[in-house]
Amino acid sequence: MTETYPLSAAAVNAALTTAWLGRPAYFRAETHSTNDELHELALAGAPAGTLLVADYQTQGKGRLNRRWEAPRNTSLLCSLLFRPSWPAERASWLVMIAGLAAAKAIQTVTGLKVALKWPNDLVLGGETGPWRKVGGILLSATFSNGQLAVAILGTGINVNIPGELLPQATMPPTSLLLALGRPVSRPDLLASYLAHLEDHYQAADSGHSPRAQWQDRLITLGRTVTVRGSEPAHSISGVAEATDDWGSLLVRDAAGRLHTITAGDASLRTD
Ligand code: ADP
Repeated sequence: MTETYPLSAAAVNAALTTAWLGRPAYFRAETHSTNDELHELALAGAPAGTLLVADYQTQGKGRLNRRWEAPRNTSLLCSLLFRPSWPAERASWLVMIAGLAAAKAIQTVTGLKVALKWPNDLVLGGETGPWRKVGGILLSATFSNGQLAVAILGTGINVNIPGELLPQATMPPTSLLLALGRPVSRPDLLASYLAHLEDHYQAADSGHSPRAQWQDRLITLGRTVTVRGSEPAHSISGVAEATDDWGSLLVRDAAGRLHTITAGDASLRTD
């Protein structure tokens, strides 16, 4: 495959228009997992704002020990390090602002309308067919004394993956290339993502909840969902009615009981 819009250390550095987010920036042709390698850099003292971009992950991760698969040179795979002095329960705001920033970046660069599937997926196309997953966010966080200590926000976006190389996945996958019919510049997408995310982070850091904007893009509300817990006995079916300020999903079951579902331990099927 001819490589379109290659990523390199120079391309990543040229993409930085932000004041502090993405500085310093590291580029790897290959790593095990951008979240895991950035965690190692964090332990070695890397500052808030550090960015790690990879062209390929040998052990890319999803939530709950699932895998994130992406062919070499086709995707935007990056992790960002934050050291927020935020109360622990605000950790979910990072997932919310990353989803918003990624959605806005895709929209800015391609014109495609991006929606969010609770809690951490970027989806395309529901107006014309089934919703398809084009990206995901993964937060790895550590806490100390009820506060967030180190937060690593990983993002995987299927940019230029041809249809035949899309991975097997529970929700049908797609890429920007497929949705648009032409390849998309990964450096441009990265630049836009960092710019949007820096703005959202500043707002969240000042205490402004991202919930209203985030909820506007959620495809999950008003629909019947099955939330699978760690055991089948812990599964809940009901209508997703709303979210709370921390991004938890409020699901009303057939008996009228309202359940608060936190993102960390739930997997969602939408009927
Ligand atoms: P969930 O959507 O259940 O929260 P995650 O966000 O943790 O799952 O992402 C992992 C899951 O996403 C995998 O189990 C697989 O079904 C799917 N997947 C893996 N790689 C990709 C990809 N490049 N594009 C779309 N879906 C993917």
